[in-house]
Amino acid sequence: MALVMSCWWRGRFFFRIFAKVAVQSEIMSILLVIPDRKLTHLVAELQQQLPQVPIVVWPDVPDPDAISFAVVWRQPAGSLTPFNNLRALQSFGAGVDNILVDPLLPKLPLARIVDPDLTASMIQYLDTALGFYRYRFDEYINAQQTQRWHPRSRRQLKAVTVLGLGELGAAVAMHLSQQGWQVSGWSNSAKHIDGVNCYAGLAELPLALAETDVLICLLPLTSTTNNLLNSETLAFCRQGVIFINVARGAIVDDDALLAALQSGQVSAACLDVFRQEPLPAEHPYWQQPNVLVTPHISAVTNAQTAVTQIVENYKRCMASLPMFNLIDQQRGY
Ligand code: NAP
Repeated sequence: MALVMSCWWRGRFFFRIFAKVAVQSEIMSILLVIPDRKLTHLVAELQQQLPQVPIVVWPDVPDPDAISFAVVWRQPAGSLTPFNNLRALQSFGAGVDNILVDPLLPKLPLARIVDPDLTASMIQYLDTALGFYRYRFDEYINAQQTQRWHPRSRRQLKAVTVLGLGELGAAVAMHLSQQGWQVSGWSNSAKHIDGVNCYAGLAELPLALAETDVLICLLPLTSTTNNLLNSETLAFCRQGVIFINVARGAIVDDDALLAALQSGQVSAACLDVFRQEPLPAEHPYWQQPNVLVTPHISAVTNAQTAVTQIVENYKRCMASLPMFNLIDQQRGY
């Protein structure tokens, strides 16, 4: 009898522990809210690094209360509201504008991806674009359409301005300075970067824009940068400036840019990002001869790096430690 009682107590004890662990593991699930992407690889990578943690892909969520951490990118508005035990959010990319735009976004810490590979890719894209214009490839592409043989000297491009001196902008500005460009940069707060004329705040924007041959936009999209590049601000630039946008489409007033491209105020534009993506078939940018369109490929999130950072931040979140690369939701970046 004593033996039976002892087994019963032990059984009860182990059952309690098992139940507790099961409950804990239930509320440790990671949710992926990344619509319109194939997530098989990401799920497999996460599962390999976190074998105990259920990885759940929205909208197929059997137990919403089990979700404690969400990886998000362009999530539908309100899609995160059913998750009462959610503790933190992780952007799947460097930007967060497409996440913060959700009016029903839970008020939780939000981290983003910061990756040297992303920076390297952005630098390579911009080097390529600058070479493209310096060697007048834009003109030769048009000349080829009519079989015109018309050699010209290289464009005299010397000065470049980088709007935004964050992770990407500061690295781009330093790189271009090392390549011999005269570099100016513009940010919210004052900066000191070797080889870069740094300007800050709206009052200094005209100074940053004047005297530049090439204007590169690497600002985040926020309520203050929305339509920042409009007819008034583009007019601060030297006539014939070349414009490269690798940040977000909505920072630019499209009608103002098209007018500037037609008047010659802006001589050419290389656009990687658009207010609406994919760029709609009827959009005038497709037909504008001095516009080069690329489909948002200047710096694409590397899934491998993203997994490492997601796992790290997930573990920190579970250990109640602050996550890496948190963004300031008041500022919007
Ligand atoms: P970040 O580290 O957050 O830096 C943002 C920079 O912009 C900071 O220097 C900030 O100034 C400045 N800034 C923000 N608002 C401003 C304002 N109103 N006036 C003046 N300066 C302002 O961002 P990041 O990592 O460099 O990335 C920049 C953007 O690139 C991202 O937000 C994303 O939209 C875009 N992006 C595009 C691609 C692509 O494939 N095309 C890939 C990655 C990222 P302070 O330093 O003073 O705060």
